[in-house]
Amino acid sequence: MSAVLPAGRLFDELKALGLARGDRVFVHSSLRAVGQVAGGPDMVAKSLLSVVGPSGLVVAPTFTYDNPTFDPVRTEGRTGALAEALRAWPGAVRSLHPFYSVAAVGAGAAELCEGHHLVAGTAPGSPLDRLATGGGKVLLIGTGHTSNTTIHVGEFHAEVGYLDIPFDPGWPTGATVELGDGRSLEVSYDRFPGCSRAFGAIERSLRQRGAIRDGQIGRALAQLVSGRAIVEEAVVLLRADEAALLCTDPGCFRCSRARERLQR
Ligand SMILES: [Zn+2]
Repeated sequence: MSAVLPAGRLFDELKALGLARGDRVFVHSSLRAVGQVAGGPDMVAKSLLSVVGPSGLVVAPTFTYDNPTFDPVRTEGRTGALAEALRAWPGAVRSLHPFYSVAAVGAGAAELCEGHHLVAGTAPGSPLDRLATGGGKVLLIGTGHTSNTTIHVGEFHAEVGYLDIPFDPGWPTGATVELGDGRSLEVSYDRFPGCSRAFGAIERSLRQRGAIRDGQIGRALAQLVSGRAIVEEAVVLLRADEAALLCTDPGCFRCSRARERLQR
């Protein structure tokens, strides 16, 4: 068997995982875990788009995290090769949030991305929230739930008391969004998605409610998960214990400050 994954096989594996025509899907991926794919990241993007078809929507994080200026056309995302391929795809729409932008390709891309800079990265009304609560799916390829940003949407729905603590005190709380033609927007935030190192805690309850389908893409394990279930289960966990999704690393600024506050 060839070490290079042929494109047709990729298409079949995505379908076997449960991805279907018309699906709206948010994709987190480590292509290194998948192994070599014929055609590279562009072929992975093309396969995803072919499976969901023209009525579907493929969205990926193009997060930039701590940049003082953001140009949706020029500023590269820091969340992987597939996301960059989707960002460059003909017809792709990138949301204007300076730290937590997404790239969307397909039906309803512009509506999904609209106004992202006006809300916190994963707050209600953000693309991730719209996708998850509107029946979309989350696809994890070669990554676990520590990469599942939709869990942060659940933190906002649960209105946990630590959303004002930034991931790193040195990170900016505002940025300039460059709109081209010399136009720009100044935006600032007082609530943030934070640390995700403890997000694996949600997987057991998602499995218990049957919200996860497992499969394999190339050499990587993959999960296809109901976005709505992710948000709902995060809220259940956080209402029972507001520290449930905080990590225990004493060096983590966000989580250690949040724990201090909860213990008071
Ligand atoms: Zn942490």
